[in-house]
Amino acid sequence: MKITSVDVITMKRQDFCAQTPVICRINTDEGLYGYGEAGVSINDFSLGSAKLLELFAKSIIGMNPLEIDVIWSKLYSNFWAQGSGGVIMAAISAIDVALWDIKGKYFNVPVYMLLGGKHRDKLRAYASQLQNGWGYEEFLRSPGDLGFLREACVAAIEDGYDAVKIDFINKYEDGKRMGTDILKNWIPPNLMNLFVKRVEVAREAVGPDVDIIMENHCLTSANTAIQLGLATQHLNIMMLEEPANPLSPLEYKRVSEKLNIPVATGERSWLRWGFLPLLENGSLSVIQPDLGNCGGITEGRKIADLANTYGVTVQTHTCNTPLSVAAALHLEVAIPNFIIHEHHTVNTLPATRECCVYDYQPVNGYFDIPEIPGIGNELTEKALAESSIVTVK
Ligand code: MG
Repeated sequence: MKITSVDVITMKRQDFCAQTPVICRINTDEGLYGYGEAGVSINDFSLGSAKLLELFAKSIIGMNPLEIDVIWSKLYSNFWAQGSGGVIMAAISAIDVALWDIKGKYFNVPVYMLLGGKHRDKLRAYASQLQNGWGYEEFLRSPGDLGFLREACVAAIEDGYDAVKIDFINKYEDGKRMGTDILKNWIPPNLMNLFVKRVEVAREAVGPDVDIIMENHCLTSANTAIQLGLATQHLNIMMLEEPANPLSPLEYKRVSEKLNIPVATGERSWLRWGFLPLLENGSLSVIQPDLGNCGGITEGRKIADLANTYGVTVQTHTCNTPLSVAAALHLEVAIPNFIIHEHHTVNTLPATRECCVYDYQPVNGYFDIPEIPGIGNELTEKALAESSIVTVK
């Protein structure tokens, strides 16, 4: 089998969440094709990956798509790819996931079988980013007030989730976004009171038996993450996500030493080498690689196995199309150290759900695993017709 062409698909922009999904479809001389997504679509960084996908695609025409590791190594050995960041790795990741999709179809098995099989029948999921609400209308208005947060928590619990994730610090009470530097040095009392109140409201709304994940989105430094963590850890926080820049392993170490909250990061880390310093210094309890930017399923598996040697668990990061949701489910079910799946509020919205043939949603907070050969999803004809497509032959 040979790769004959690669379609670089730039989808219609989703204005409500400021994302332009970029997808690659790899076509072969046997009629099999595979889909993968560049996992950097927030704020349209994916447009950079689209250009890189065109470049990378030229170098894999004529290769055997089943030789995934060989292709991965060829792409990664390209001059600027080595030591690179998320936009370049997202292009490589999209190709890699598409190759796994082809391989599953070729052997007529779901991708999880190629990865070693299912460790469990279902995957526990959490409702993610409730500061944006839980459902379409809420996402559009998304203010910062306590009543809105309470409503979102109740909606998620009514959907059957027993875990939620919330960014308690990204907005003022009037809905205006925090600046990028205000939370880096010392959180003033008025803001601390607001943030702590939000955590209290969330805990009250979900009750004592539901896990709460605190999402900091790298808005804090070690100093302020510790300040916030000390004031809220009595409310039983399951994990603290991105308390600092992930290129700062020493900040992570300080946070993990000062708080009784497990620390997580990974959506802005790539390759085994990106995760290693955080694993080696013992700061992390959970890694959150995004298969659309960490190096694909090939590298994601290696990162997960590396984490396992440090006793660290895995939750993949997903906030893209249902193609990426499907890919994530295959890896998460096939590793022993899975902890929980992230179901982003974006993935509950019609615009996102309707772009793919299959709409994977959890039932009572648990996902079934796609049983279709390959990753088990593809874009609809309508989504393709609305996209701009560049074909590399
Ligand atoms: Mg996050």
